[in-house]
Amino acid sequence: MQTLGALEAGGTKMVMAIFSDDGTMQDRVSIPTMEPETTMPEMIRYFASNHVSAVGIGCFGPLDLNPDSSSYGYITMTPKLPWRMYPLLPTFQKELQVPIALDTDVNGAALAEARLGAARGLSSCVYVTVGTGIGGGVIINGKPVHGLMHPELGHQLIAPCPDDPSPDGFCPYHKGCLEGLASGPAIQKRWGISAKELPHDHIGWQMEADYLAKMCVSAMMSFSPEKIILGGGVMQQSFLIPLVRRKTLNYLGGYISSPVIDNGLEDYIVPPALGVNSGITGAYLLARQALDSQSHPD
Ligand code: ADP
Ligand code: ZN
Repeated sequence: MQTLGALEAGGTKMVMAIFSDDGTMQDRVSIPTMEPETTMPEMIRYFASNHVSAVGIGCFGPLDLNPDSSSYGYITMTPKLPWRMYPLLPTFQKELQVPIALDTDVNGAALAEARLGAARGLSSCVYVTVGTGIGGGVIINGKPVHGLMHPELGHQLIAPCPDDPSPDGFCPYHKGCLEGLASGPAIQKRWGISAKELPHDHIGWQMEADYLAKMCVSAMMSFSPEKIILGGGVMQQSFLIPLVRRKTLNYLGGYISSPVIDNGLEDYIVPPALGVNSGITGAYLLARQALDSQSHPD
């Protein structure tokens, strides 16, 4: 029986899992993300000792996903300096000598939600995580979108709210992009209190919902997804999704008519059905793909 390795590579932790052929998770471990010299050998040991036949990796971005590029499979301009321009995919390939597929963590999560979760049965969806950063994955025709690089929904420019006391935003690259205005740390910097502790009736939540609604409208107008899935730590505030739906409807201004978005968007903007497992499940699906494309090359 074959075993498949899955890696959800994050800036603070690396989550690794072993899946059996039928998709059952057999083992799962988490190690802190240190510099590559420490963390890579640990991960390689884990997968090698479990004799994996393939590995799927969902990784924080940005990544070079262009197979024709000389830095294909590298982590590129990340602010996590020890990992900047790190050859993640080439290093794993050299050490493990098995088929390996790499995509962004959020494209992986979007793939998992499309195949097995909230967007099951649909051929398109957008998955956005609102946490330490904001990232978005996009599935169109059943496949993650790549193109020039890969979608970076968190770094789209967003018009600040007129009453935002920090309208310039906090992104080191763009200041007032979505991540710079609406990530967990942006909420904390703006209000001086963590998102976890910000009271439910605080104006900050109206602002947060406003920014996320603008993102939902942009995603709908850009990609025409059949479902938008909002996950990540900040979305643990369960009153937030209904607020986002309401504001999204307002911003749409009646322009889009589809039975799918009736119902006050209740079935359209939804939490992840796979909960915190979207990412690692996506990595498993990537491993499957890597294995299948080896046995059935295009
Ligand atoms: P990461 O993005 O690092 O993978 P998370 O998705 O948990 O991890 O995001 C962490 C961010 O989410 C922090 O900024 C934190 O303040 C915020 N956060 C975590 N839990 C909650 C919560 N229950 N309510 C609101 N914000 C939260
Ligand atoms: Zn940005």
